[in-house]
Amino acid sequence: MRFVRFHERAVPISRYSDPSIPSGRLTTSIVALTTDVTREGKPVVGYGFSSIGRFAQSGLIRERFAPRLMNATDGALVNASGTNLDPFCAWNLMMRGEKAGGHGERCVAVGTLDMAVWDVVAKIEGLPLYQYLANRAGVVRPSTARVATYASGGYLYPSDDLARLSDEIRALLDDGYTHVKMRIGSSPLSVDIKRIESALALMPSANYLSVDAMNAYDPEQSVAAAAALAPYRLWWFEDICDPLDFETLSTVAASYPGRIAAGEALFSLAEARLLNRYGGLRPERDILQFDPAHCYGLTGYLRIVEELRRCGWNGTAFWPHGGHLFTLHVVSALGLGGCEMNPMSFHPFGGLSDGMGPPMVTPHRQKHLASVLKQRRCCTDSFASFTSDAAPAETAVCMSGFEAI
Ligand SMILES: [Mg+2]
Repeated sequence: MRFVRFHERAVPISRYSDPSIPSGRLTTSIVALTTDVTREGKPVVGYGFSSIGRFAQSGLIRERFAPRLMNATDGALVNASGTNLDPFCAWNLMMRGEKAGGHGERCVAVGTLDMAVWDVVAKIEGLPLYQYLANRAGVVRPSTARVATYASGGYLYPSDDLARLSDEIRALLDDGYTHVKMRIGSSPLSVDIKRIESALALMPSANYLSVDAMNAYDPEQSVAAAAALAPYRLWWFEDICDPLDFETLSTVAASYPGRIAAGEALFSLAEARLLNRYGGLRPERDILQFDPAHCYGLTGYLRIVEELRRCGWNGTAFWPHGGHLFTLHVVSALGLGGCEMNPMSFHPFGGLSDGMGPPMVTPHRQKHLASVLKQRRCCTDSFASFTSDAAPAETAVCMSGFEAI
């Protein structure tokens, strides 16, 4: 039982539903790992991608980490009972010979392949990923488990920004989302305040809107923004300053009364420990957003969750970055706080299904999704697997990204 073939390709993705709007030439890697295991006469293939926001990792995947998986001796990656491949064995093999530190974007390359490995083992087991992961983690979950989700978007438009932002927020609310996250930090604070007030005019309450500064603020700007935003009582204030500027983050946390969200741009257990120790975050209030693909994959993410739980954080504080089906399965399996969704951006990977993007919504489908997503919840039981052929209607958007390989 082993991997016999891999494919990787860099594909473009965009922060906007309109692909003509420049989005910084953002890309992501998609990978396929083929095994010598067959089901119904076909080899079992696992799929993964580099999540969103960190560009493709083609060189590291092709030259370093995928060959290590391909060159594993027969049986080296098999679990103790000999019934399946073991994602932890695969992860250890990929990291063999790597020195401590120097996470760079190595963690994203490993995480991309790790996603495909978890997809493979769930498929060999014949279970949806969330069910396989919950079983493995010993999590007892009700058969109708639901996951809290929110809609992520609100990037600055190059023209006619306020009107287009309002249209976007309105569309997300029409899709059934109750909670929305928008971006700030790429305009002067006075402009962002106007953008926030435009969005709030459409929301039932400020407590339904969070803002993400995308780590743009320097120390002085961070403190000024926190002071300006505090009276609005927003849902949360995310990615305030440089991800490793724990001094500024702790200064803001000492005075900002609302929730702070952080961790999206930290990629290792060592960095998560530093955030916990020096970031000044408040476990009873704040939000942790480590990305299960970016921080050395789900295998690395599980170690972060386990460690921070030991340090006093509740599982409900974890709302992972990503906004796609893989994170949805992880949140469901581990009983975490909730899941980001990108229904209008990062096509074909964002959102829940082919019905979420307004250009693709049929009236019937829209109505169905609105009812399912009321109370910002969705049911993962309708997904047969993260990328299963058995659920094409639910995973068509995600699968279309893999068709090229
Ligand atoms: Mg963010």
